[in-house]
Amino acid sequence: MTRGAAAALLAVAGLAAAVAVATRPTGRARGGAPAHVLDLGHPLSATDPTWSGRPTFERTGSPSMGRIATDEHFGTHLDAPVHSGGTWAVDQIPVDHLVRPGVTIAVTGMPEDYEITLADVKAWEAQHGAVPEGAIVLFATGWDARWSDAKAYMNERDGVKHFPGIAQDAASYLRERKVVGVGIDSPSVDHGPSETFATHRITNSAGIFHIENAAHLTELPARGFTVVVAPVNTVGGSGGPTRVFALLP
Ligand SMILES: [Zn+2]
Repeated sequence: MTRGAAAALLAVAGLAAAVAVATRPTGRARGGAPAHVLDLGHPLSATDPTWSGRPTFERTGSPSMGRIATDEHFGTHLDAPVHSGGTWAVDQIPVDHLVRPGVTIAVTGMPEDYEITLADVKAWEAQHGAVPEGAIVLFATGWDARWSDAKAYMNERDGVKHFPGIAQDAASYLRERKVVGVGIDSPSVDHGPSETFATHRITNSAGIFHIENAAHLTELPARGFTVVVAPVNTVGGSGGPTRVFALLP
């Protein structure tokens, strides 16, 4: 191979790598930083699933200057504790609660209405040790695979939604463990058929925030990473669209 041909191939390889970085949800930090960064959210789009089924997000304007309008509980979003019986609005959550050790409890391949139980959490602890106080606990169900099909994601039949969530006994245990946040890759921490939203109240009333509509949680290890949660920081907000990142060694 001539030197010119090799240089051309390298240029093509470099371009391919740049495209890969731009389109995949991961990226390796440069300059010796330890973190491999995984994006745990979906980008916001008007066609995303919504709780009501009606559009609740829009971006208008030009590519270079626009305006967005959104529900607080849209897309990958935070529930501030004030959403369900707690006191803190988004801007009142201590900022150190938003950057914490993460643990991932994977409960995949279960029935659509599955509620993750205390037994599931205990089974995880038997393998990986106690859920650490102050952690952010992420439940990986794999439901985010449906995200691009809003109907399949909300999965509503005869007025009842069907998707996995977290049972009250598991939520109460995490509250006892003094975790600061709970996340899930489905529309809600309460499973689809819930009418009482009991898990919301158990955790939010204890100052624990939620991340809902999270993404790529099934790609995370069980522990040994840091979670960064960066919500739209609205004064008095009950929640808001949020960026969520995992920093992996
Ligand atoms: Zn919620």
